[in-house]
Amino acid sequence: MNKIELVKGGFEKPRCVQACPLKIDVPRYLRAIRKGDLDGAASVVREKTPFVSVLGYVCRRYCETKCRRAEVDEAVAINALERFVADNEQHLAGSVQPNVPKATGKRVAIIGSGPAGLTAGYYLARLYHHNVTVFEADAKPGGMMRGGIPEYRLPRRVLDNEIGFIEKSGVQIRTSTPIQDLDSLFKEGFDAVLLAVGTWRSVTLGIEGERLQDVVDGMSFLRSLNYGGRLSVGNRIIIIGGGNVAVDAARSAKRLGAAEVTIVYRRSNEEMPARRDEVDQALEEGIRILFLTTPTKILRDKAGSHVEFVRMKLAGVDEHGRRRPVPIPGSHMKLNCDMVIVAVGEEPDIPPSFGLTVNNNGLVRVDQETLSTGKPGVFAAGDCVTGPSSVAEAIASGKRAAISIHRYLTGDWKTRDEVAPHQQEIIAEMWKEDILDTPRQRMPLLQIAERVTSFSPVELGFTDDMARTEAARCLRCDERLTV
Ligand SMILES: Cc1cc2nc3c(=O)[nH]c(=O)nc-3n(C[C@H](O)[C@H](O)[C@H](O)COP(=O)(O)OP(=O)(O)OC[C@H]3O[C@@H](n4cnc5c(N)ncnc54)[C@H](O)[C@@H]3O)c2cc1C
Ligand code: SF4
Repeated sequence: MNKIELVKGGFEKPRCVQACPLKIDVPRYLRAIRKGDLDGAASVVREKTPFVSVLGYVCRRYCETKCRRAEVDEAVAINALERFVADNEQHLAGSVQPNVPKATGKRVAIIGSGPAGLTAGYYLARLYHHNVTVFEADAKPGGMMRGGIPEYRLPRRVLDNEIGFIEKSGVQIRTSTPIQDLDSLFKEGFDAVLLAVGTWRSVTLGIEGERLQDVVDGMSFLRSLNYGGRLSVGNRIIIIGGGNVAVDAARSAKRLGAAEVTIVYRRSNEEMPARRDEVDQALEEGIRILFLTTPTKILRDKAGSHVEFVRMKLAGVDEHGRRRPVPIPGSHMKLNCDMVIVAVGEEPDIPPSFGLTVNNNGLVRVDQETLSTGKPGVFAAGDCVTGPSSVAEAIASGKRAAISIHRYLTGDWKTRDEVAPHQQEIIAEMWKEDILDTPRQRMPLLQIAERVTSFSPVELGFTDDMARTEAARCLRCDERLTV
């Protein structure tokens, strides 16, 4: 018996499904791909989320970190397969006419059009038939999916398509409408309010020179780029931070024409929180990373801007269990630059006029089960509750909020959260199919020279053959022999 035979099958709840914040039935959609039924595969994902394509492009791949195929060789490329399904089902998402909801007469105001707010709106309108208005401060909807994630990772036609689908489900989106006062929404006749405002304020370093002209925070930089088009960045850019915002800012600066882009991170390669494949792609694009280095001062004189740094070493662990960086005495150094981008974290910006309780990190306090705040009829979801997280987590949170709001409005406790019907399938026939003993398929990438001169998508997507081969690597952990 080979290793595949030893590991395959036998689990009621496969690990990939358990790890997914949305509990998407991964083995079922992989089987549909294998059969060539792409619309069926998309329906499996759509049972759990309106954002099939967005997740196909940018999901954090919780499922792959737990995939049992890694016990044989490498995890199944589940996310690349989701993207394959979404790309080939695009016409469907664009053309489907969702039901126009029968109104219950209840009105829900949602503040913020990121994944949490839009998902909650989708479920409240399409499944529970309430009248939903989403208020968005920015000129276009999407939250960080539009204002944060650069276009070379998430093409805007993909995002626009899925937001269009949500609007067709009966969700009204009012852009360029910042909300400062919750009570006025109730006075206008809304019966419940959901706060889904994300974490848009950048954390500062607290060092000298941070307010100088050539210093910008990571979120402002990405927002200006994503909403305003091309920016002028100069030649030498220093990015401070080691998370996804830092890497996205660095790769964007490179595409805007900067010759020397350096990321400076205070811990080592091992602790860098940014996604590994994105760090590798950044390195391929010529971005330099200085590990174990932290800034102490930013200066500007006639010769231009400079950043002073000190080298660090790791000693002991901090309160989060991460190795603690401590400065090495006498190890100061200086780098010249034209622009400094500070990307060391984000936090929410909840107006005091909302009258809500926030914790020490500025996050909205909620009942963990119902997501209700202390204020009657006001709920909160997404990053403004959890802190900076991910699209999938924000979708899951928005969905939970929708269920709670529906219960609050109607007293109906028998709520379900699946908008699409569960697809029936006969899996016994699949036992006849082999599980392929082939290595994980590699995502084809755009040539590096083209990558650094444009915002075209870097990951090109699987071909039909690659998708079917990869889907056939799944060990079908959900299949059990019944005697
Ligand atoms: C650069 C970057 C890259 C990322 N990359 C990934 C990735 O690859 N994969 C992944 O899974 N996650 C990624 N994330 C994280 C992910 O985008 C967020 O976790 C997610 O968008 C949070 O969703 P949300 O709905 O809670 O808030 P947001 O998406 O932040 O949306 C909140 C919305 O509320 C609006 N708003 C705020 N205040 C008001 C107000 N008073 N009135 C009206 N509107 C208001 C804001 O304008 C915004 O549109 C990334 C984040 C960033 C910044
Ligand atoms: S082998 Fe298939 S079913 Fe098992 S954890 Fe991986 S993707 Fe899920």
